[in-house]
Amino acid sequence: MSAKYVVFTVLLFCSATVQAEFAPAAPDDGGLTPFLEALGNNAETYHTLLMNHLSENMTVDDVIMFRSELLPEVTSPYDITSQQGNGAPFNAGCNGCKVAISALRALVRLFGKKYEDISSALNVLCHVLMNAQGYQGRIICPNILPNYGPKVVYIVQNGKMGVGETCEFINACPANTETQDKEGTALKTSSSSSRSSSSSSGSSSSSSSSSSSGSSSSSSSSSSSSSSSSSSSSSSSSSFKRHHPKRDVYKVVQLADVHIDFDYAEGAAVECNLFVCCRKNYRGKGKSSKYGEYTCNPPPRTVELFLEKAAKLNPDVLLYTGDSPPHHLWYEQLEEHMNTTRYLGEAMHRKLPGVPIYPAIGNHDAFPSNLYYVPDPDTQLLHDTLVETYSSLSEESGKNMHKGGYYQEQLAPRLRLLTYNTNYGYENNWFNILSQSEDHLHNMQDFVEDALKTARNDNNKVLLMGHHPVGTGIISFEEWVTRMCTEYHDVISLHIAGHKHTDLFRLFRASPDAWASSVQFAAPSANSYSRINPSMRVYEIDRHTNELVDFVTYHMDFSDIGSGAEPEIKQVYRASEEYGLTDMSARSWHQLAISMLSDTPALNKYENNFGTGVAANLRDRRCEEGDVTCHNNRVCQVTSSTLRQRWECNTNGVQIPTDPTPAPTDCVSSCLGLANGEYQSCQGCDVYVTCSHGNTYDNRPCPARLVWDDVIKRCEYTSTTCRQRHRRSADVIDGDEERQVQSKGTVKF
Ligand SMILES: [Zn+2]
Ligand SMILES: [Zn+2]
Repeated sequence: MSAKYVVFTVLLFCSATVQAEFAPAAPDDGGLTPFLEALGNNAETYHTLLMNHLSENMTVDDVIMFRSELLPEVTSPYDITSQQGNGAPFNAGCNGCKVAISALRALVRLFGKKYEDISSALNVLCHVLMNAQGYQGRIICPNILPNYGPKVVYIVQNGKMGVGETCEFINACPANTETQDKEGTALKTSSSSSRSSSSSSGSSSSSSSSSSSGSSSSSSSSSSSSSSSSSSSSSSSSSFKRHHPKRDVYKVVQLADVHIDFDYAEGAAVECNLFVCCRKNYRGKGKSSKYGEYTCNPPPRTVELFLEKAAKLNPDVLLYTGDSPPHHLWYEQLEEHMNTTRYLGEAMHRKLPGVPIYPAIGNHDAFPSNLYYVPDPDTQLLHDTLVETYSSLSEESGKNMHKGGYYQEQLAPRLRLLTYNTNYGYENNWFNILSQSEDHLHNMQDFVEDALKTARNDNNKVLLMGHHPVGTGIISFEEWVTRMCTEYHDVISLHIAGHKHTDLFRLFRASPDAWASSVQFAAPSANSYSRINPSMRVYEIDRHTNELVDFVTYHMDFSDIGSGAEPEIKQVYRASEEYGLTDMSARSWHQLAISMLSDTPALNKYENNFGTGVAANLRDRRCEEGDVTCHNNRVCQVTSSTLRQRWECNTNGVQIPTDPTPAPTDCVSSCLGLANGEYQSCQGCDVYVTCSHGNTYDNRPCPARLVWDDVIKRCEYTSTTCRQRHRRSADVIDGDEERQVQSKGTVKF
């Protein structure tokens, strides 16, 4: 009897999972909010419903016990007016979260033992709930519950956070500053102080393979590869095989969010009262085309067209940012799920023979979708599958993949790939309630920081890859990403993500008054679901400096997909031309953000690309001339690298520096818009930049042991202006730092 009540609330969470995944009507801001708001707005009704339901089947003693457990937690959130603040759009959603989690915790504490006994009762309740929301319960319920139910119960039984803390953690309630700061500090402390087994083993074992990794490198790389403790490729296949000596750039193709659907059926319903359509057994309106629809995941034939196009572009490497399985959560089966991942990896290798291919883990790659957790056997199976499938991964990377879905590879002379696992920062991965305080997360953070530090010491550049872009995830995780990206901005020459299915960029700033020093690009998806023209992207990396030079976005226009003609994949825009950028530096993207605040056509051009040119997407996001709030909120999405920053930005307005002359404490990585003269370099305290008619001469070393003072504009023994973090981040003794900078200067100039 009692287990029924656990199920009732587990059901709410499973329902929330579905909602969370399919709020991508607003792909950039989706999540649990709509579900929790509905719950919060009806908190008292829900409470009454729950108690009535319980009372029917409980003894009087049970009811009294349950009330005494449940009421203090469930009733307290009704009044949350005192918690408003931080500009967070919270009220009903926060309330709803507290109601749901309180009830779940009380039920599990009182009655919950295991999930398995209750599946049939759950089905009945699920049908009621789904049908009430207008969805096809008969399809969703019997399949989704067995996958999510046991894991949700496990998380509730083992989670140590309080109700309020949990709701803040998953971004349903405004972050309590103290709590978040505590978490941030804890993370920083653990990541910077510990020498975990993961990071140390990563370094030591990778050093054993450094000799082979240098095999395809040119002679100029010999010093860096020989001293590298982290060049982890152990076979020649993991370096760029095809060097195109006549070409000035490496071509890095990114594919994002393929979500391939083997059961896609031509002629099936396009509108189907499910979150995603185009399967034979779904009822509804319309007839799907041969190649896909805006409401569906793509068939293999469409994906293959993308891989063929990628091959024609003759890339040096293909980076796949994850999310292979389709969105039909209610049909997810472990084996099929892994088969999708396997098929796609094999198809990539088959269509692009000889091209190194590297994956990042998406939230849909986990089984069931979103629930990534290293100790979980299903996550271990995913790691196995990825390592078996992606043959470009070195042995060392395979080991690191098993530890937590991260790795690094030496791609070319002085150029490394570093893949990190953003599932640890995804707010809809409830396993993070547990992972937050566990070693596997901290090991990954140590690995990333070590890898960046080593790359800097070896004078290497890093291509950084993850699945989720920053801006809507777990705040403490995104604060960590922000710290990495600003401290190592001189090392990271490209930072890519996917997941949102839309086309966007994010700026990282070291402090609220600083110019952006780092930028992240999320490429639009290769899958059309949620009104996207299936897309892919090519980044161009300078072969000599290993810096990003430009990128080009391609897509397949689905606007007349019903015609039956084979759709073509065409170039849509080249970033430098589209946005009028002279280079790809963070400073240039920062300037674009400034212009988007007041220049409506510029903003709407970005928004049009954001929605991959689908007219309906732009209609939803276009700002009218003079609509300050609209412009502000759009630009806030670009300038905020954590959700907390975004809340503050939405409330207080975009507050980024706009003065083209940097403040004395600022640094310069591009001379765009600057007067002739010398400035502090962003590469370190002991180097400066000379600007001459817009040309940038960076990395100009001060004499030994001197540092640049940006007020008196010369090298001195101490600087009144260079921020400590530049020096600290290098984390090397003076002599080493000096040599490092000098060697950089030698290589570059
Ligand atoms: Zn996706
Ligand atoms: Zn995703």
